[in-house]
Amino acid sequence: MGEILKKGIVVRSTGSWYDVQLEDGARVQARIIGKFRLGDIKTTNPVGVGDRVLIAMEDNEDDKALIKDIEPRENYVVRQSPRKKHQLHLIAANIDQAVLIVTIIEPSLKQGFIDRFLLTTEPHNIPAVILFNKADLYGEEEMAIFEYLSSIYGPIGYPCHLVSATTGMGLDTCRDILKDKTSLISGQSGVGKSSLINAIQPQLDLRTGGLSGSTGKGQHTTTFAEWFNLDFGGAIIDTPGIKTLSFNNLEPMDVTHNFRELFEVSAHCKFANCTHRNEPGCAVKEAVENGEISELRYFNYIQIMEEIEEQNYWERHKDM
Ligand code: GDP
Ligand code: ZN
Repeated sequence: MGEILKKGIVVRSTGSWYDVQLEDGARVQARIIGKFRLGDIKTTNPVGVGDRVLIAMEDNEDDKALIKDIEPRENYVVRQSPRKKHQLHLIAANIDQAVLIVTIIEPSLKQGFIDRFLLTTEPHNIPAVILFNKADLYGEEEMAIFEYLSSIYGPIGYPCHLVSATTGMGLDTCRDILKDKTSLISGQSGVGKSSLINAIQPQLDLRTGGLSGSTGKGQHTTTFAEWFNLDFGGAIIDTPGIKTLSFNNLEPMDVTHNFRELFEVSAHCKFANCTHRNEPGCAVKEAVENGEISELRYFNYIQIMEEIEEQNYWERHKDM
């Protein structure tokens, strides 16, 4: 009995088993044996959704397989592991774009959240789009906030759109954005990510209602990233709702390099390692003062920098 090698994409991982979608669309379960050391990143999971793998199957057994090899990744997104804070969790690999779903109310948008999210996609220059869901609930005040944020993120290359899973507003735009691409879909818990995905592609029928805490019963929500094919072309990778984004893995320079419009201007700072705070001849501060860089982005940048410096300081001094 021979071994057959096939190529596929990891579409789901639930611990030690991986669901792999083969080129003909069939899905098989596969395991990893031995250790995979993948380049420069250390992660809790060696293989992520979106990884292109080579699997070996026994020709007498059509549903169990072994992952033999992983293709080099074009890009990937990691998050600090929720359980082991010194490890990274590989969320997804080989994506064309990230779609961040937010809402201005129910739940209210956390200060800095968008910028924190962008710090996870920017290291690989992954394009990102921001969808403001629950637009049906927005009054004048919320619309003004949307306009304000849109005027900040749009011009620096992160398009913003109003959508509503409830009324169907903006769904055609969503389909245009997703068509023929592999998109990572993320959002804080309760923003309506599952509802929106269901509205875009009703056959998927994802569980919704993450916010219905009133019954006291724990609702099943997504705990693993999962790949779904879209019938109009392309695929989405749905990811677990985000509670908070922490950055144990980052150094201050990672932050300065990944606020894209700050980084661009920083070429003109007097000092090459300028952190854009109190250094003389800082082109970034000048750009904030004359309105070329948004004060909100700059404020969030400073906040995240300080948080990372403080966290790394305590890490390095914890044994003293
Ligand atoms: P998830 O945790 O992000 O997947 O959010 P869910 O899809 O489970 O939605 C959370 C809650 O928001 C549910 O009660 C939904 O009915 C509600 N919801 C989702 N989208 C919308 C929307 O566009 N408008 C309004 N008014 N409610 C929405
Ligand atoms: Zn500077």
